[in-house]
Amino acid sequence: KKRIGVLALQGAFAEHQEVLHRLGCEATRVRSQGDIRSVDGLIIPGGESTTIGRLLVDFNLADTIRQAAEEGMPVFGTCAGMIVLAKEIIGSEQFRLGLMDMAVRRNAFGRQVESFEEWLDIKGFERQVKGVFIRAPYVEKVWGGAEVLAELDGKIVMVRQGKLLATAFHPELTDDLVIHEYFVRMA
Ligand code: GLN
Repeated sequence: KKRIGVLALQGAFAEHQEVLHRLGCEATRVRSQGDIRSVDGLIIPGGESTTIGRLLVDFNLADTIRQAAEEGMPVFGTCAGMIVLAKEIIGSEQFRLGLMDMAVRRNAFGRQVESFEEWLDIKGFERQVKGVFIRAPYVEKVWGGAEVLAELDGKIVMVRQGKLLATAFHPELTDDLVIHEYFVRMA
């Protein structure tokens, strides 16, 4: 049974745990360095990326996550989690883990369309997946080892780099388990 951790400092961690349970995984809340060391994979949920970043520093977790990721632990960031994983956050000096070769723009879809749903074509997936976007970021560019898996109207919304995965949308808010399944298979 795979043991997947969900970073539980702020944001939508309970919803991710629920999905992981439905997939038959053990889903633990991660709040300490020891928690990170005990999991086969880590999800960084949506929420507020500046808050999550500040708490990563306060709880002294950033270096442990970076090291575990460098040693091959899969990490999946959704929405604010995507922002925290990026090397570059356009126009912001906020804290980030900086693990993925991508530049993200926060709240990038504009005020009029704060929240919306859209069907997505994802590279390697046999059918479309519904993306739920909530004050979502998108990725303006990738480089190095980062590979674009999905775009929406020319905006990058899903990226993979080795065992690191990031979505601008919230797969934990639909009944479709396919994105989590994809991540769990990496772990
Ligand atoms: N707008 C948030 C941020 O910039 C992300 C929103 C979300 O995670 N749903 O951190």
